[in-house]
Amino acid sequence: MSEPAHKRLLTDLGRGELAEWCGLRGEAPFRADQIRRWIFGKRVADFEEMHDLSKPLRAALAEDFRLFASEIVRHQIASDRTEKLLLRLEDGSHIECVLMREPDRRTVCLSTQVGCAMGCVFCASGLLGLKRNLSVGEILEQVLRLDRLLGADERITNVVVMGIGEPLANIKSLLPAMETLNEKGGLGLGARRITISSVGLPEKIRELARYGKPFNLAVSLHAPNDELRNRLVPVNERIGIAAILEATDDYFRDTGRRVTFEYVLLGGLNDGVEHARELANLLAGRGAHVNLIPMNAISELPYADPSHARTAAFVDILTEAGIAATVRKRKGADIDAACGQLRLAEEQGSTSSQTTHELSDAVVPNR
Ligand code: SF4
Repeated sequence: MSEPAHKRLLTDLGRGELAEWCGLRGEAPFRADQIRRWIFGKRVADFEEMHDLSKPLRAALAEDFRLFASEIVRHQIASDRTEKLLLRLEDGSHIECVLMREPDRRTVCLSTQVGCAMGCVFCASGLLGLKRNLSVGEILEQVLRLDRLLGADERITNVVVMGIGEPLANIKSLLPAMETLNEKGGLGLGARRITISSVGLPEKIRELARYGKPFNLAVSLHAPNDELRNRLVPVNERIGIAAILEATDDYFRDTGRRVTFEYVLLGGLNDGVEHARELANLLAGRGAHVNLIPMNAISELPYADPSHARTAAFVDILTEAGIAATVRKRKGADIDAACGQLRLAEEQGSTSSQTTHELSDAVVPNR
């Protein structure tokens, strides 16, 4: 059980705020670093385990804060060792997070909102609409929970923010959370190992660029023209592809990071050679990478798998046009690891669909 909600969630505080809290109790600021080391580096479950802190300081921490704000209500493990957690937050909301393992990396996929307002038509996460944003601590807590599933000699190597929600619509919590993951006193993960996935909110993309950290940006495009994209990603009606590409060009210019474009292949809808050619024209000269995600057909939704032949033809057209394209491999397929499915089942008593934010670390560039 999580602790009573009147206590603040410790991970909602940045390093500076925690040092300030220590100062108010007559403790040196470096105590904040010690506390954070216990949380992010040593995987403690309780303040009592923070042995190098004085007893009164541990008691004060326990008096003012709680370490976790969620309960694990489901824990699934796939045959490829992908693990998925369904967490219940204090207000009864559910979110999902996932750990994906590969020989040389352990990637976690995080949610940033309870639900989503973007309304992508093939996505389970948006079906119930947006309930609320997650706090900084609620985003970080997913990392802590997943980190504690790893063996003593294993560490998280990559973070992808492509779970439930539109990360840039909650940039206020997203940035401090990513900062803590990036900081030495936090998880100490290089910014280049963090990927933020968005439907493409131009002003927020610019805000992310101004933040000045070379995070990877992945934009979910899914269509090569506005007419089709308006149907698949309804929020596009008030944005438009041209404005998104202007913003991603700026992101590349300002951060030096090439943008990945994600494209879910919906059989017979956006997977034709004409779509591939249009996409190739759109992205020509942008040095972009395209990540193709074959739709996994679900009976409740009127979308079909793309055939292997159409997928291969799509890749060929992009490649011939000089655009790097990969087909994303599925992770955790046997545990319905696509984000939103488990939450929807829990909240509605049904299972449904996949999201473009389907689990994979294929968008994380090799380095
Ligand atoms: S695909 Fe992503 S942006 Fe679109 S509705 Fe689902 S969670 Fe939101």
